[in-house]
Amino acid sequence: MIYSDSDIRTLKGIGDKKAQAFNRLGIFTVYDLISFYPRKYEDRSLVRNISDLSDGESCCIKAVVADIPKLSRIRRGLEIVRFRAFDDTGLAEISYFNQSWLKNSFDKGETYYFYGKVERKYGRATMTNPAYEKENAAGTKTGRIVPVYRLSSGLTQKNVTDAVQTAVDLFSDTVPEILNPEIRDRNQLVQARFAYRNIHFPADIGSLELARKRLIFEELFLLSCSLSLRKHGIKKEAGIIIENDSLSAFLEALPFHPTGAQLRSIKECMADMRSGKVMNRLLQGDVGSGKTLVAAALIYHAFCSGHSSALMVPTEVLAEQHYKNLSSLFSFSDLNIELLTGSTPASEKKRIKKALIEGGVDLIIGTHALFSDDVSYKNLALVITDEQHRFGVRQRSAIVEKAGNPHILVMSATPIPRSLALIIYGDLDISVLDELPPGRKKIDTYQVDESYRSRLLAFIRKQVDAGHQVYIVCPKVDEDPAEELKSVRQYAGELLAELPELKVEFMHGRMSAKEKDRIMSSFMRNETNVLVSTTVIEVGVDVPNASLMIIENAERFGLSQLHQLRGRVGRGTDKSYCILVSDNSGEDVKKRLDILCRTNDGFIISEEDLKIRGPGDFFGERQHGLPEMHIADLGVNVNILQQARDEANFLLEKDPELKKEENRALREQVGFLLEKNLILN
Ligand code: ADP
Ligand code: MG
Repeated sequence: MIYSDSDIRTLKGIGDKKAQAFNRLGIFTVYDLISFYPRKYEDRSLVRNISDLSDGESCCIKAVVADIPKLSRIRRGLEIVRFRAFDDTGLAEISYFNQSWLKNSFDKGETYYFYGKVERKYGRATMTNPAYEKENAAGTKTGRIVPVYRLSSGLTQKNVTDAVQTAVDLFSDTVPEILNPEIRDRNQLVQARFAYRNIHFPADIGSLELARKRLIFEELFLLSCSLSLRKHGIKKEAGIIIENDSLSAFLEALPFHPTGAQLRSIKECMADMRSGKVMNRLLQGDVGSGKTLVAAALIYHAFCSGHSSALMVPTEVLAEQHYKNLSSLFSFSDLNIELLTGSTPASEKKRIKKALIEGGVDLIIGTHALFSDDVSYKNLALVITDEQHRFGVRQRSAIVEKAGNPHILVMSATPIPRSLALIIYGDLDISVLDELPPGRKKIDTYQVDESYRSRLLAFIRKQVDAGHQVYIVCPKVDEDPAEELKSVRQYAGELLAELPELKVEFMHGRMSAKEKDRIMSSFMRNETNVLVSTTVIEVGVDVPNASLMIIENAERFGLSQLHQLRGRVGRGTDKSYCILVSDNSGEDVKKRLDILCRTNDGFIISEEDLKIRGPGDFFGERQHGLPEMHIADLGVNVNILQQARDEANFLLEKDPELKKEENRALREQVGFLLEKNLILN
């Protein structure tokens, strides 16, 4: 049996109950345990003199037990084992609460290490419940740098440390080495066995650093290999061939000329759709770069050769907007479009579903409902998602089940720094819209503080008087006395008091979808002048008449998010503005917000954002669909990431499917990662 497969219960001291506690931490196998890296470390390597200890510090002493430990029952439920211990400089009092069995664990006259928090009582040093180890016993808890692990209920630090110790002792010599000697040499990496031992029980700080570097590299290397292989696998699936490539009627009917980037992306997609393999492509483009047009061209392309398409969007309002826009775009042809959302009347739904089965719909637009159980398709050849990060595995299989293997295009407005895009979308091909349609005006962006409040109000009034509309974003829904943050409700109330002639509405994520849709629709029809909202407006409906975006407590948002929010304005022909309000006078905040004032380029902004915040915050809750990193940090370890990726490519060039015997260990590890379905959400 290979060690990675062995259940943790095969380890001494782990029974069913402990195993369950470990399972709660995501640890099932011995390999999981070995790669359960410490959360932090405590340096217990320095042994202190008892006479030097001061109140409140945590430290390690080496002392001889002076008495036979005495067990006293103070009252019911409170037992104490107590004894004294000394070194050359003084005497310390050691006590353990409610662990009566420890009475027999210490031998008078023997030397032990104790680690714990010191209290000085009447001048005497005391330690309560210190970690201990006998001198000369294999030291994992005292007298060295010790690991500190994340715990779950039913597990103590000692439980985890002991289990890891057992596993490392048994397996560190047989741990698979997935990095061959050349890779290790080129990148100055230590061997796996050294790394696994020292990441848990480092001999010293230097060894810990070496272990960390090696394991970070290993994790990123494994990820790179897995994504590349996965991409390889997906590409092999046969796809519907869509060959007719005359778009001239479509292009002639457009009210404008497509940008170079739009034409290039359309070409790339059409090549995929013609290739006989399934298209799996990401279309990345900043807000306003014109992704919809690319989608429309492909939909038309499929239509011309008798196939139908589906466009999936996250909200009903967005679905309606696309329905409206695409209906007018396709008015020159007899392409039949239907809209299917939660609020489609039941009789309509029935009719549309029937038409879908019969193949009478050329383009269906809707929300997630498009792939619910009661919907079936005929001839579906192209599935496009808008403003949506990735398909989850389940969604993907639902689509495949319903539609065979349709071509898939994912459109995203979140610019990903180039350093990360390659890794994150390793299994997708990417087209980038790196050019905005002509005539787009820069959104003037300013950073102001509370002292501008009255001028801000005047500016809002001025915009509304000119017939324009205003968005205001606040970080909170309700006032929270503990935090001085602007709240949607409060703000809308104040605004109405100050500018009673305006029509103000507010919106937030806790409202029902129906309520949000009503508010958004009324804003779209210019029945509302000012919309005060949380970040729920981030994902985008087009309101070309909105010309001012005010973001309160701007310091609370990430740069990419601010950029996304700002993209809600500047969609029409009028000059637009974004005002970032923040009373935080910290230099860091100023510098950060200044990046937005200087540039409108989403890629530059995302690079800066990643540098400042790291990928965890950057992407939000694992939206990127990568497996959770155990030790690597995609924001911080960019250089190692680059090296690991280069090495992975180099190796896969020589052995594309990892068939060579020398790559067996690597193939197995890649297999585990892919099997866990961790990639692609
Ligand atoms: P996004 O990439 O944010 O989804 P849209 O597809 O909504 O952008 O396009 C934004 C606006 O730009 C729309 O009003 C659209 O009609 C317009 N547009 C798209 N492509 C062009 C172009 N090549 N020239 C002029 N306007 C364009
Ligand atoms: Mg869009």
